[in-house]
Amino acid sequence: MERTAPGPLAAAQAQVRKAVEALGAGEDLYELLRLPQRTVEVRIPVRMADGSVRVFTGYRAQHLSVLGPCKGGIRFHPGVSREEVQALSIWMTFKSALAGLPFGGGKGGVVVDPRPLREEELEQLSRGYIRALAPVLGPDRDIPAPDAGTGPRVMGWMLDEYERIAGGAAPGVITGKPLALGGSVGREAATGQGVAFAVREAARLLGMPLAGSRVAIQGFGNAGQFTARLLAREGARIVGISDSRGGIYHPGGLDVETAIRHKEETGSVVGLPGTEAIDQVELLQLECEVLVPAALEGAITAEVAQGVRAKVVAEAANGPTTPEGDQVLRDRGVFVIPDILCNAGGVTVSYFEWVQNRTGYPWSEAEVRARLEERMVRAFAQVAAAAQSRGTDTRTAAYVVALERIRAGLRARGLLGSPGAG
Ligand code: GLU
Repeated sequence: MERTAPGPLAAAQAQVRKAVEALGAGEDLYELLRLPQRTVEVRIPVRMADGSVRVFTGYRAQHLSVLGPCKGGIRFHPGVSREEVQALSIWMTFKSALAGLPFGGGKGGVVVDPRPLREEELEQLSRGYIRALAPVLGPDRDIPAPDAGTGPRVMGWMLDEYERIAGGAAPGVITGKPLALGGSVGREAATGQGVAFAVREAARLLGMPLAGSRVAIQGFGNAGQFTARLLAREGARIVGISDSRGGIYHPGGLDVETAIRHKEETGSVVGLPGTEAIDQVELLQLECEVLVPAALEGAITAEVAQGVRAKVVAEAANGPTTPEGDQVLRDRGVFVIPDILCNAGGVTVSYFEWVQNRTGYPWSEAEVRARLEERMVRAFAQVAAAAQSRGTDTRTAAYVVALERIRAGLRARGLLGSPGAG
């Protein structure tokens, strides 16, 4: 699907501005937050299997290290750009602050379609990315993780490369690692698990039973697959799924495991026997209780939002709704679980992984799940309470809760004046 204007950076900045205004804060707070502290661009040469050399462009944006080291994933996707990575790093700052994690926001990316690459080429690219950026990374500086187009395998190569450069073990420099290298149990499922907890809380708040409710999932990567699986386990009916090639629909409810297998075998959910083909916009506008955008930014534009028929939009992706789309959803009374709340399960379990690495003591799966649940439930309640007391929509409420914490950190460091000071 085409990406639509305004770009993600403009969208992130508009959301920050709105929160600054809702808090009645001054222009200096917005000025501190509208762009990352540092954006690094690198060229990564890779010797391809045919002997030729290709040079890939990579980025790492470090938005704010006021509440702790920067933290956020690395994306391998042809649509990656400097502005996209910057926007994603801003969202990470707010997400971590909202989840109460001691991190600031970071995000990285490489402009590449990883799918046609051979294993050795992908490994060289992953190692080259770390070689180029190692000086600005570190367990106390900036901690990458997976994002679209990357996963545990890429994180494993990246950790190994970083440790070769550092000359010793540094498992806390990267999260979402394979279990064999100090990854956390429950990290792969974490984003979807967090989405499922958030949807459950929203359903409770709205008095809507989750069992039997209809769910449409846009995007069937890590977040989409685990969300589908876990919501189906709660008794929800997954009536539609789409990916970059198209969508499928089955009003009675799809079997998630069969859909995952079909995607693994064919590269897409399209063509799953017993389903009807639909396009991506039709998926977003299916009649359902819960719509889960779990792909890329900018999917729900104003035009798309006009046709959204879900009661709840659970943003598993980062930035799936444009500010204009957001306004339409608000006007139409759709309950939005904003991305910085909805998909915070990933970075929350990344935090758990980092803690386990630093203490050298692994947690059990039950412990990870229980602590994730506790944090998701708490963050959801804080956002719901702020929306109610301030009379704002849930997205603005989420940003305001996060911004209050960020502002307190800036003030405590003397980077921003305190009220009444001087
Ligand atoms: N890429 C994920 C996100 O956007 C996870 C980040 C992390 O675990 O650091 O939240």
